[in-house]
Amino acid sequence: MTPKVLVRVIDTPQPHWVGDGFLVRPLFADLAFTNAVSPFLMLDYAAPAQFKPSDTPPGVGPHPHAGFETVTIVYDGELEHRDSAGHTGLIGKGDVQWMTAARGIVHEEFHSRGASRRGGTVSMAQLWVNLPRRDKGAPPAYQDIRDADIPRVELASGAGVARVIAGELLGAKGPARTFSPMNVWDIKLRAGAEVELPISEGDNAVLPVFHGALEIGGRAVDAGKVALFAREGDAITLRARADTQALLLAGSPIDEPIAAQGPFVMNTRQEIQQAMDDYRRGKMGSL
Ligand code: MN
Repeated sequence: MTPKVLVRVIDTPQPHWVGDGFLVRPLFADLAFTNAVSPFLMLDYAAPAQFKPSDTPPGVGPHPHAGFETVTIVYDGELEHRDSAGHTGLIGKGDVQWMTAARGIVHEEFHSRGASRRGGTVSMAQLWVNLPRRDKGAPPAYQDIRDADIPRVELASGAGVARVIAGELLGAKGPARTFSPMNVWDIKLRAGAEVELPISEGDNAVLPVFHGALEIGGRAVDAGKVALFAREGDAITLRARADTQALLLAGSPIDEPIAAQGPFVMNTRQEIQQAMDDYRRGKMGSL
């Protein structure tokens, strides 16, 4: 296999609050909403944080999305989602909610009432996945993916384990249905392990490191940082310098113009204006 070159280690950005429920770091930094990370758009990561017991669950109230998908991965705690297409769901540790906003949806995202009453640790990531132009007008959809439905792949030589959320690794297929080809693997490596992972030639690949520390091509990629790989090559090699958790994101680049404003991601400014008008006129529904 030909290794994909590590082209950049993206620094840890400053955190900011989303509503009052999620203190997130936007890990793609200045590469968010560019074709360097396509088909992915951005990744917000909320490191484990303690919340006091409360009868008022923290989170973010009704807001729209259009033109893409939001993928919420819960690492700790329990979240509750509700949207204008009538979907509701509770997702707990290890679960994933894959929401297709496409032509437009209004949703809210809170800590679950039960978890909020108990208080405790919450940690999550939210990935935004772009849709090809031809699919931006698709009907909204909601995939509730349980931890138990996500296959676990043991990596060679006891290096660790990968949960295949989307795509395929060593014959294990992830449950998420996607509009374009991509791999989303939740990876845990043991300290000292070295592993080579197959990533298709031509795919973009980014690897946010949540915990621990990796060495890639002789360079350190510590917790909070993101490795960005070249499209050329068909494998990446990771060496864990500590017990490490990371999220491998790889996919076939969509390579269409990206027009992004707030919660809308289209191909042109005119389409953004249209989405804003659709939202204001109630075409995306309400809660
Ligand atoms: Mn949202």
